[in-house]
Amino acid sequence: MTAELPAATASRLDWHVASVTDVRRETARTCSIVLDVPQWPGHRAGQHVDVRLVADDGYQAQRSYSIASPPEDASLVLTVERIDDGEVSPYLCDVLQAHDGLELRGPIGGYFVWDIAEGGPLLLVAGGSGVVPLAAMLRHRAHAAASVRASVPAHLLYSARTWDDIIYRDDLEQLAKFSDVTVAFTITREAPSDWRGYRRRIDRAMLEEIGWPPSATPRAYVCGPTPLVESVATLLVEIGHDPARVRTERFGPTG
Ligand SMILES: Cc1cc2nc3c(=O)[nH]c(=O)nc-3n(C[C@H](O)[C@H](O)[C@H](O)COP(=O)(O)OP(=O)(O)OC[C@H]3O[C@@H](n4cnc5c(N)ncnc54)[C@H](O)[C@@H]3O)c2cc1C
Repeated sequence: MTAELPAATASRLDWHVASVTDVRRETARTCSIVLDVPQWPGHRAGQHVDVRLVADDGYQAQRSYSIASPPEDASLVLTVERIDDGEVSPYLCDVLQAHDGLELRGPIGGYFVWDIAEGGPLLLVAGGSGVVPLAAMLRHRAHAAASVRASVPAHLLYSARTWDDIIYRDDLEQLAKFSDVTVAFTITREAPSDWRGYRRRIDRAMLEEIGWPPSATPRAYVCGPTPLVESVATLLVEIGHDPARVRTERFGPTG
């Protein structure tokens, strides 16, 4: 007699072919892929999927992509930054199109996740495409605020190279219309001439101005290139935040 795996466990580990319903440009270097995944078991904000590409000769490449859409949405959305010499991301942004199939498995991850029931306040810090899972958290928070009237205050601090590299800029500005949500950008390369916000890499002073004080015991989520994540996590602990409440996800090296 063989023991059966629970259905949800089996489906997370199995590869599925999702249908691409749309590929839309977010910025010059990023695209969002909208997917219809048969028998999707549902996900939590912050989780990711693995995507697998298989060449005609059988060569395979597999990468992880965070889920941008909140659990409440019917479609699954991934947002991919195109790395010029990358194996997988140029295919996803330049070649993949509506009606194609895409092999993926998930949802994956039980650590870098947040649900409204966990409460807050939330301190979200992103670099580049690291905003993807944090946007899913803010979108989930907005749904919960509308449907169950649960309010969790949130601050997002987002570092991008230029104003035009800010992913989901309009959406983030909409999400920031909630009275208890603030979104602050820092632009590390070319800022518009009338830009009055931060123009430097995230540092201690910025985290003290934008973040919550340690006495507020926020739940911090930090995501992006490895150097940014390590520097921000170290600074948060130096400021006095409980390391157990600082969660990190590293996407890879800086470009
Ligand atoms: C849990 C998790 C979630 C992720 N979520 C996302 C996401 O939502 N969106 C997203 O765009 N990426 C995400 N990534 C990164 C993604 O998995 C790939 O690493 C990325 O798309 C590069 O793959 P590639 O095959 O194009 O490049 P590769 O062929 O792997 O690498 C090509 C070159 O680019 C460098 N490189 C690799 N990754 C990066 C990077 N992230 N930034 C800059 N340079 C890099 C490599 O060192 C190498 O020099 C996530 C990674 C993890 C671990």
